[in-house]
Amino acid sequence: MMMDAFNDMPAFAPGWVWLVGAGPGNPGLLTLLGLHGLRHADVVIHDALVNPEILKFAREGAKIEYAGKRGGKPSPKQRDISLRLIEFARQNKRVLRLKGGDPFVFGRGGEEALSLVENNIPFRIVPGISAGIGGLAYAGIPVTHRDTNQTVTFITGHDSRGCVPHAVDWAQIARGSQVLVIYMALKHSAEITRKLLEGGRKPDEPAAIVADASLNTQHVVETTLASLPRAIEDSGIAPPAIVVIGEVVRFRTALNWLEKAREAAAENAGQG
Ligand code: SAH
Repeated sequence: MMMDAFNDMPAFAPGWVWLVGAGPGNPGLLTLLGLHGLRHADVVIHDALVNPEILKFAREGAKIEYAGKRGGKPSPKQRDISLRLIEFARQNKRVLRLKGGDPFVFGRGGEEALSLVENNIPFRIVPGISAGIGGLAYAGIPVTHRDTNQTVTFITGHDSRGCVPHAVDWAQIARGSQVLVIYMALKHSAEITRKLLEGGRKPDEPAAIVADASLNTQHVVETTLASLPRAIEDSGIAPPAIVVIGEVVRFRTALNWLEKAREAAAENAGQG
């Protein structure tokens, strides 16, 4: 007998806010709980990074509002977004805040949740697949592999002022973590690369840039740490993109399942 996974899911009560991760972009990577929330929400407030295809899962008649910002710039609107969530919740709406990837990974989900706490608004967090894990899997790069790394560090290329994060000890990271996964890394790639090299990271270490991960437009560039800024410039690769530095990048040669599947599909189409 087929089981309905949705039967036992929590009810979306009026006046509640659900902070939902949409995953890296491909609609198939939304969680069942996220889908359940979308089917019941009265209001959906989403970021720029959320694929419009995912918004189509929203209940008919739901109000869809864009709250986005892009490019990692400090957002003057963050406070407004929180106020908007509170306002709708106080109107007894079921409010779904939809964010790219996971809401608690470089997504300000914590800030929004804290403002809900301050205002006594009940909320639920629905985790999503973060681009730095699931997005890399779509490029055939495992973030950990027993033969190469027992550590992985997730880093943001921007701090709240839009600069290379000062609180990060780049030399420690260069020495202490075998794999580095950098979100929002394009803009400051030259400075980040320099800091890592100064910290003792090997110039010829494999690196990759993965843009539009999991989407039809996914684009991967393989390079080395020393050549990273040049590779970004030459390829014209555009955000959203994840940079990964470490030996795990080599597995892509064998594991880039998506490109292999696409090539096979193109060949079949050619024959048919
Ligand atoms: N909360 C999100 C991250 C938000 S910060 C998450 O967990 O994934 C925005 C950054 O995420 C982008 O600048 C980029 O570095 C990364 N990102 C999000 N979606 C991506 C995608 N489909 N492909 C590559 N990078 C992505």
